[in-house]
Amino acid sequence: MPKSIPSRVLDGQRALVTGANSGIGAEVAKALAAAGAKVGVNYVTAKEQAEQVVAEIAAAGGEAIALFADVSKEDQVQAMFREMLAAFGTIDVLVNNAGLQRDSAFHEMTLAQWQFVLDVNLTGQFLCSREAIREFLRRGMVPDVSCTLGKIICMSSVHEIIPWGGHANYAASKGGVGMLMRTLAQEYGPHHIRVNSINPGAIKTPINRSAWETPEAERSLLTLIPYGRVGVVADIGKAAVWLASDDSDYVTGHTLYVDGGMTLYPGFSTNG
Ligand code: NAD
Repeated sequence: MPKSIPSRVLDGQRALVTGANSGIGAEVAKALAAAGAKVGVNYVTAKEQAEQVVAEIAAAGGEAIALFADVSKEDQVQAMFREMLAAFGTIDVLVNNAGLQRDSAFHEMTLAQWQFVLDVNLTGQFLCSREAIREFLRRGMVPDVSCTLGKIICMSSVHEIIPWGGHANYAASKGGVGMLMRTLAQEYGPHHIRVNSINPGAIKTPINRSAWETPEAERSLLTLIPYGRVGVVADIGKAAVWLASDDSDYVTGHTLYVDGGMTLYPGFSTNG
């Protein structure tokens, strides 16, 4: 893995990461805390995992709280934001990370499977972004903390642009996230709110365990990744710190693929 220099680029900022009890969200929460942010660690299930993330952040000298909410439920999202603001005063960074899959051949997909994935992966990002933007606008600019009014990072996927048979609900939700992100970046740019997305390729987490847990599965996965390794959560954590910090000021409406080249059509590398 590449070496990195610890920095405190998020000192004084407050961040909320959804779905932060597992996988990418847990790492993003820890990386933001290591960079100096106070962090809200959202969970909907497995509270003990969220408390473990909070404990790891505290053990490393950071500050975090666990926050319950199903991101697809308006009242629960609003209650979570009230709790976040009561604990930390405001919010500077939202990471819309919560997401899931309910896979099915399209002709067998139930409306419930379709709706559940859209509700969590897309409506969840709408509900959380709306609360964050309301708070950014209410609080106003605090130049000592950041040169932006606020930052939103949307966790999308390579399947925002790579079609994915058997996962039409997931791919459609991430396609929607891309347009939500760009529209918010356009609408709130004049307020100095930056909105970007991180689109991971294959990152080793519980969501895709079957794709990497055996050597055969990993070999097959690697044929899709020009850079020659499967991603790890730290790859995403580092990207999130950069997008959350003023180091990426002037970057908004951007889709950052962190995918080892998965979106480079590797099947065409030798004459197609
Ligand atoms: P994961 O299953 O480890 O984490 C997903 C998290 O979302 C879990 O903490 C889960 O509890 C939470 N969640 C699900 N429904 C929720 C709800 N209604 N309210 C609140 N939280 C909820 O998987 P991951 O790989 O860490 O996925 C994180 C994000 O990254 C997802 O949006 C996923 O689509 C995206 N992503 C992952 C990969 C990958 O290769 N791992 C690739 C592309 C995109």
